[in-house]
Amino acid sequence: MSEPDRPLIEAVDLSKYYGNFTAISHVSFTVARGSITAFLGPNGAGKSTTMKILTGFLAPSSGTARIAGYDVETDRLAASRVLGYLPENGPLYTDMSPADYLEYAGKVRGMGRSDLRAALDRVAASCRIEEVWHKTIRKLSKGFRQRVGLAQAILHDPQVLILDEPTAGLDPNQIALVRDLVKSLAKDRTILLSTHILQEVEAMANQVVLVNEGKVVFQGTPSELAAGRSLEDRFRELTKGVAA
Ligand code: ADP
Repeated sequence: MSEPDRPLIEAVDLSKYYGNFTAISHVSFTVARGSITAFLGPNGAGKSTTMKILTGFLAPSSGTARIAGYDVETDRLAASRVLGYLPENGPLYTDMSPADYLEYAGKVRGMGRSDLRAALDRVAASCRIEEVWHKTIRKLSKGFRQRVGLAQAILHDPQVLILDEPTAGLDPNQIALVRDLVKSLAKDRTILLSTHILQEVEAMANQVVLVNEGKVVFQGTPSELAAGRSLEDRFRELTKGVAA
């Protein structure tokens, strides 16, 4: 496959077992360049587990994850250069200010002083966190904390973003802000974002991968998923939710 056509995210037959428990089983899907793909599924379906594997934070029991063609286990450094990740619970170092945390994150990535300074200015503006720049992250609202997490994810200007439930726990105003931000980031990037919320798919995604009980049960566009019915009906059908 020629490089421009190569999917930027490839999950190839991924399985993960915790003891006897199967968290994900033979998960395969691809994310095409330039798409916003919703990784949709009920709670416990295996979304976070898959995302941790795709980002190299968790080793799969079997299978391969590739970012921009790089195997995340054997070519981790190359993969991490093109990848930004917003983990499930946002920024870790909550006793730091966004300024200190993001500077630290840039240094860990090996960014040079002048590149880092320019990147900090860029993410402070694009994620709209200037007003909390020197406050303690722990004291920020969830909406601001999530935007600090996004700033960390895009600091090195990666082509690929993997965002684990970016709007979880936010109020409607904060959700609107984060959705706008994600859409603006999508202009020149490829994004995989997990969610269990159907409105999120309608508001943001042009592709969907639906998982249920650790298995992929659908991949296609939102309208292919709806198949002339409602997304909610189809979600319930494919995840065996109980109809109201
Ligand atoms: P989702 O993100 O879709 O809510 P997760 O990937 O977090 O789902 O979890 C998938 C399943 O794996 C769940 O049943 C969860 O309880 C289980 N699981 C996740 N992490 C662990 C772990 N460290 N040990 C044991 N079970 C786990």
